[in-house]
Amino acid sequence: MTTTPAPAIDVRGLRKTYGPVVAVDHVDLAVAEGEIFGVLGPNGSGKSTTVECIAGMRRPDAGTVRILGLDPVADHDAVKRSVGVQLQSAGLQPKLRVREALDLFASFYDDPREPLELATRLGLGDRLDHPWRKLSGGQQQRLAIALALVGRPRVALLDELSTGLDPRSRRDVWDLVEEVRADGTTILLVTHLMEEAQHLCDRIALVERGRILVVDTPEGLIGRTAAPLVMSFVPDRALDTGGLVALAGVSDVMERSGRLQVACDDAAVLRVLDWLHDQHVRPEHLRVTESSLDEAYLDLVAGDETTTDAPEKESIR
Ligand code: ADP
Ligand code: MG
Repeated sequence: MTTTPAPAIDVRGLRKTYGPVVAVDHVDLAVAEGEIFGVLGPNGSGKSTTVECIAGMRRPDAGTVRILGLDPVADHDAVKRSVGVQLQSAGLQPKLRVREALDLFASFYDDPREPLELATRLGLGDRLDHPWRKLSGGQQQRLAIALALVGRPRVALLDELSTGLDPRSRRDVWDLVEEVRADGTTILLVTHLMEEAQHLCDRIALVERGRILVVDTPEGLIGRTAAPLVMSFVPDRALDTGGLVALAGVSDVMERSGRLQVACDDAAVLRVLDWLHDQHVRPEHLRVTESSLDEAYLDLVAGDETTTDAPEKESIR
């Protein structure tokens, strides 16, 4: 008999309102142990509120949240020993030095990582005696990530993982996240970077207005769009792009410095080649690539920022 292991994070019917604002509305999600799960969506779509409810920092209005089988509000102390959290607003004490912060957070856990090694990995090795307030935005961000991961947590919740990081630091953070996962940590991360989501995540939830639109693998999301492929080539003679667009399965044709880009579905690839052949056009430097997650996102998420007459900001919980 096989039993399915309980998910590391199990959210059912989660709802959270701030006065008249419904921030999270009937969200269900299950993150398997060892998974890297991404949450993507426009600003104000309830991503941070969801993370804060999972972390036990906000009490849901309805629904249940279980993390490692525990109720994050009722079992807060136990959760704190097994879960690492990087919040968007990591309000650390301004005078706390990097080294002190790392030591403090490491002390919450049974088997923490070596804080100095982690700081060095994240480019903070020469900032250990700097107070938090004197760090640059990117350095504060890297410290927040280090603090979330220093305890070797069983689950890490990372809100806006690499927002504000330069490309080099971002790569370092991605390597670290992959290594931490290889060590067995389950990771839920919020990101705005499609490249990051595609690189790191096993599955992604697209959210909008407090609801989950779809959960799928990055490839699966791309496959759901009308045009999962891009054929790109340089025609050896002028052609009638109108004829191309008219082919079944072709959704868009763009020209960029002599190269044509045809967005289409799988079945249209041969149709396009046959059509070019009939027109006596040779597609030179032909490439067929997967359309990007960017396009899938734009296709699947309407994308208008949730506008609200936000009431007075409510403090945590
Ligand atoms: P996201 O992280 O996706 O940008 P949030 O969870 O921060 O979204 O916000 C969802 C909605 O809840 C937004 O309309 C936001 O204005 C509102 N909201 C978030 N936090 C608070 C708060 N502390 N008090 C009042 N409204 C809030
Ligand atoms: Mg947010």
